[in-house]
Amino acid sequence: MAKKIVIIGAGPTGLGAAYRLHEEGHDNWQIFEKNHYIGGLSASFKDEHGFTWDVGGHVMFSHYKYFDELVDKLLADEYLEHLRESWIWIMERFVPYPFQNNIRYLPREKVWECVQGLMEAQYNQAETHDFKEWLYKTFGNGIADIFMLPQNKKTWAHPPEKMNKEWIAERVSIIDLKRILKNIILARDDISWGPNNRFKFPLYGGTGGLFNKFMPYIEHNLQLQKELSRIDIEKKRLKFTDGTETAYDILINTAPLDIFINRLIPTQEALSAAAARLEHNSGFIVGIGIKKACPSNKCWMYFPQADSPFYRVTYFSNYSPNNVPEGDYYSLMCETSFSEYKQVDKNTIIEDTIQGLINSKLISERDREHIVSTHPIQVEYLYPIPSLKRDRALGVIQPYLMQHNIYSRGRFGAWLYEIGNMDHSVMQGVELVDYLLSGKPEATWQTI
Ligand SMILES: Cc1cc2nc3c(=O)[nH]c(=O)nc-3n(C[C@H](O)[C@H](O)[C@H](O)COP(=O)(O)OP(=O)(O)OC[C@H]3O[C@@H](n4cnc5c(N)ncnc54)[C@H](O)[C@@H]3O)c2cc1C
Repeated sequence: MAKKIVIIGAGPTGLGAAYRLHEEGHDNWQIFEKNHYIGGLSASFKDEHGFTWDVGGHVMFSHYKYFDELVDKLLADEYLEHLRESWIWIMERFVPYPFQNNIRYLPREKVWECVQGLMEAQYNQAETHDFKEWLYKTFGNGIADIFMLPQNKKTWAHPPEKMNKEWIAERVSIIDLKRILKNIILARDDISWGPNNRFKFPLYGGTGGLFNKFMPYIEHNLQLQKELSRIDIEKKRLKFTDGTETAYDILINTAPLDIFINRLIPTQEALSAAAARLEHNSGFIVGIGIKKACPSNKCWMYFPQADSPFYRVTYFSNYSPNNVPEGDYYSLMCETSFSEYKQVDKNTIIEDTIQGLINSKLISERDREHIVSTHPIQVEYLYPIPSLKRDRALGVIQPYLMQHNIYSRGRFGAWLYEIGNMDHSVMQGVELVDYLLSGKPEATWQTI
């Protein structure tokens, strides 16, 4: 009989794995999800006022043919395609993204500060050890002090000197001094950089609208509201919080790895110690629904300044007209992170968000009376931090799990931010199943 594969979590990674098992005709599998819905961090929610919200601004920009074809199949023609309109609000003005290519928008003395830093950085041959050093070496003092450091501190809620620099790769546009100077002198906007300058968005149901389309392929083996509480690695049995149990031959975990490790029986001291070194941040996603026509074409914006709690805001109504009720409405989705290094007051986060929007001139004081919905979502696991301690911890945990037929993948299952997007996650699930069924090596997730 075919080996029984059990998947924990019906977010994009678990759904990718389940879909692939179904596609490959492997019958003996089950998927368990603790929530009463699927999609995980990529789910969406409709509030009582008719606004749809994601768990933070989600845009699809894929690196994979398989994922693209799957999205085409699932959404058919029910999607919209957008050109990125991304900006940074700083010094009372919007600067187009990426910041370093558009510094001409800054006051003149700040442009000079940035250029001077960039020129000095060209001659800096120093080895860098952490993310903070890397930012200064790459961008110079001006850009690092004015934008990179404040923005990254606000986003990660972690000190950049405690983070590694290996995750950066394509996520930060590296400088091209000639191009930057040309942009300044010719007063040219330079906005097309990056892997996500074009993106698709589901016409209905927010980002979760895509993941709900997996249902027909997986529902026969799906159980919702089933939270894994114990994994007996010797007997290969799982226990759930409702007291039920099941057996497995191969286990795919997509739940946060630190929690998972602490649910192993017998307890693994070395693994628990390693798991304690995995860091994450948490967040509040505050949706603000406004009864007015949308005043902007922008997609999302970054906010490095201290006069707002959020690091990013999305004009979510610009992604699909179905994200808001019919008529003149628009919606802003505001993301604020927190951690042991950066506190946020849970009791005032909605008011702090609204005040931040006013301080950043996204709305006016008078717009308060047009706010018809405020929708906060608290997220315990928001970003897996690529900390300096991470890779050693994973190097202890992952080989041990795999020796015991347990494969932990996905945003918090693998704990690798650099492969933590939706396309990466779905593909981690798909590629793992290919490995389990046919031995084909995984491409996205690789041993540390
Ligand atoms: C603020 C924010 C913005 C983002 N923006 C983008 C973007 O623009 N583009 C992009 O591609 N990606 C984006 N992402 C990433 C995207 O959300 C993730 O790639 C994706 O959701 C990860 O899928 P996953 O299945 O690995 O994990 P998750 O989505 O976390 O799913 C894990 C699932 O496991 C379940 N689970 C946990 N514990 C248990 C348990 N004990 N028992 C049973 N089930 C359990 C959870 O309920 C959840 O459903 C963003 C994420 C965040 C937080």
